[in-house]
Amino acid sequence: MGVVKKIAGPAVIAENLADAKMFDIVRVGNEKLVGEIIRLDGETCFVQVYEDTNGLIVGEPIITTKLPLAVELGPGMLNGIFDGIQRPLDKIREASGMYISRGIEVSSLDRKKKWAFTPMKKAGDTVKGGDVLGTVPEFSFTHKILVPPDQGGKLKSVAAAGEYTIDDTVAELEDGTKLRLAHFWPVRKARPITRKLDPNEPFLTGMRILDVLFPLTAGGTAAIPGPFGSGKTVTQQSIAKFGDADIVVYVGCGERGNEMTDVLVEFPELEDPKTGKPLMERTILIANTSNMPVAAREASLYTGVTIAEYFRDQGYKVSLMADSTSRWAEALREIASRLEEMPAEEGYPPYLSSRLSAFYERSGKVTTLAGDQGAVSVIGAVSPAGGDFSEPVTQATLRITGGFWALDAQLARARHFPAINWARSYSLFLGILESWYRANIAPDYPELRTQLITLLQREADLQQVVQLVGPDALQDAERLSLEIGRIAREDFLQQNGYDKVDANCSMPKAYGMMQMIVAMYKRGEEALAKGASISDFLGDPVIEKMGRTRYVPEAEFPQYKAEFDAQIKNAFMGGVKA
Ligand code: ADP
Ligand code: ADP
Ligand code: MG
Repeated sequence: MGVVKKIAGPAVIAENLADAKMFDIVRVGNEKLVGEIIRLDGETCFVQVYEDTNGLIVGEPIITTKLPLAVELGPGMLNGIFDGIQRPLDKIREASGMYISRGIEVSSLDRKKKWAFTPMKKAGDTVKGGDVLGTVPEFSFTHKILVPPDQGGKLKSVAAAGEYTIDDTVAELEDGTKLRLAHFWPVRKARPITRKLDPNEPFLTGMRILDVLFPLTAGGTAAIPGPFGSGKTVTQQSIAKFGDADIVVYVGCGERGNEMTDVLVEFPELEDPKTGKPLMERTILIANTSNMPVAAREASLYTGVTIAEYFRDQGYKVSLMADSTSRWAEALREIASRLEEMPAEEGYPPYLSSRLSAFYERSGKVTTLAGDQGAVSVIGAVSPAGGDFSEPVTQATLRITGGFWALDAQLARARHFPAINWARSYSLFLGILESWYRANIAPDYPELRTQLITLLQREADLQQVVQLVGPDALQDAERLSLEIGRIAREDFLQQNGYDKVDANCSMPKAYGMMQMIVAMYKRGEEALAKGASISDFLGDPVIEKMGRTRYVPEAEFPQYKAEFDAQIKNAFMGGVKA
């Protein structure tokens, strides 16, 4: 039996632990606290403990379970709120009162609940890992029961349709292996797939600035960096609601003391726009509150992505949000420093970046083992202190993710929401998505998008001129550019996350709105050429009509746009006779 030699907060150093293996789970001390071996050095074994180590003393025993940290995957996860190592928060509270106490064993999934299983295979069939054995309904979702990725063979028996718990055997292989509705998978090991696919279709978020200017692919990764209060959480919740995914996995690493509590209160109240039912019915929430040990926070990203992969393996689209990965990185830093590891930049361990990649790299659009298509799209918030993007976590993240959606404190202060700075944001997916947009939205979509960006860019340039010499120095043509740019920013890029209609925008509507803005610009130039002035432009009711567009429900939009198109033809002439 091993012996605890040193305790430093969440980190424990032990010796003489027979059979110690990297990343295996150990039970530490008389209270059997759950920990994980994160470094081995000869006879010395470095452990991060997922529970409060107060009261643990040097000399107490430590034993290894010889198993890696794993999650249990099966029916019963939806609508669930778990901690970083998949312990259900309500069960922990029941077992230990308000606060999470130590050494308690709770099951991740409900062991008594019965699920209505419908088999899809029969005795005599040969199955391989990842094949679908049958289905179980869970809320409005069809949960596919998978053969564990590392199992397979000829089926000796399959249970009849009926009600089963996750511990009941629903199929047996000829070698005697019993298959249940649930199986375990180690969180630090990517679940196997047949192959990764080219990310050639978008993950639509419902936010115009993202879908049009900085699109993400289904299976892609994006970072949302931004200082406190700039809108990271609101943006992620909006994407959770409206993003094109069957399942949402939300990993919350609370920023301030009560922020995670807010999420725990708010999330269960979110309504699923697809069904009108609670969004939680297709969501798994992983919550790291500030009173939980940091090691569980370190594990939570991997727990989250493993759960996401499991739903992907059933052939579904999953969106995975991590808010905020900076708090996760701080956990990594704290544990590293307690283990007296050599720090690199700003005290973070040198493996910060490889740990972050190990998380983001598990995203992707794939052919599953069963031959279906599934995708995990990952969106991670980063909260650099003071909004300084040069700090290590932001820098490490932007080297990994394909999308970079830079939130800006100044825009948030000006109540420009989403406060995404288009000048500092980017997407590496534009090229690969171009043909999708041409084929599915409009043949001229990329050109129209370029025109919109040109208008925005021209306005930004002219703003600088205005700051130097004032607006009066501008010609009417330049004033027109300035006004159109303002319209593009206020009526297209802005979106009120709290407005029932404006919160979500389809691509056809976004495309129509771009056409309207470009048409306004062309007509404005025409009118100026015919002798109208900028005040004729500014006084025209078409401007107000454009301003209301984002609040027009999708169903009414085609009619609204037709009216606009008729109006714009003769607009902006004011007093001038056309
Ligand atoms: P962060 O997570 O970056 O600290 P939050 O997401 O909590 O910031 O946003 C802070 C505040 O900004 C919100 O409470 C809300 O008032 C406002 N806000 C952010 N995004 C939007 C949006 N899209 N629409 C309307 N208000 C927003
Ligand atoms: P940089 O830091 O690269 O110089 P800035 O943050 O100064 O970029 O932005 C350049 C210009 O673009 C500024 O005029 C800024 O206000 C404007 N801008 C960028 N994104 C937005 C946005 N979403 N809404 C309004 N203005 C924006
Ligand atoms: Mg937040």
